[in-house]
Amino acid sequence: MALEAYRRKRRFDRTSEPKGAARPRRRAKKLRFVVQKHGARRLHYDFRLEWGGVLLSWAVPKGPSLDPRVKRLAVRVEDHPLEYAQFEGVIPAGEYGGGTVMIWDRGTWSPDDPDVAEHLDRGELAFTLNGAKLTGGWALVRTRGYRSGESWLLIKRRDGAASTRDITAAEPRSVASDRLLAEIALAEGGDVRRAAAADPPPSKRSAGR
Ligand code: MN
Repeated sequence: MALEAYRRKRRFDRTSEPKGAARPRRRAKKLRFVVQKHGARRLHYDFRLEWGGVLLSWAVPKGPSLDPRVKRLAVRVEDHPLEYAQFEGVIPAGEYGGGTVMIWDRGTWSPDDPDVAEHLDRGELAFTLNGAKLTGGWALVRTRGYRSGESWLLIKRRDGAASTRDITAAEPRSVASDRLLAEIALAEGGDVRRAAAADPPPSKRSAGR
């Protein structure tokens, strides 16, 4: 897997997103995952799994749901460099993906079956997440028909971590900086109004956090 598509879409003299190392460092024993809340023209959550020296990436418009009955559309997008997992900040307006990015969750993941490439080909990847917000069993399943090949569903599997709690509304802050999206935009010169529109109203946030 390569980063040509990622690099082609971006102007690295304008954006502070990482270009990605020519040769990624040796893979750590534990595979990382990150979920970035991205207040772009349309809000979405970028779901990224470390594999093969890159971050496999899906854009999830509604974000993950802890409810196994709720299947969330996840559009496969270009692989991102591993360093992207540390990116939180503002992509300038007018640039690709312009908007505010938050590290919404992160941790480690493990595939149920080690042959990830085969499962990606087949369009069925089952895995376990060990993050601050997302834990337990999950699956990514490719849909047939419409935009076949790019269109997947992100589904929570039934286990002790499944819940009907609205995790994106209840846990809206960065796991890296504890900031809301509007606070990141304000600190880093982004569009505060657009970012604030993507933060849930205070009444929906969990108390005491
Ligand atoms: Mn994005």
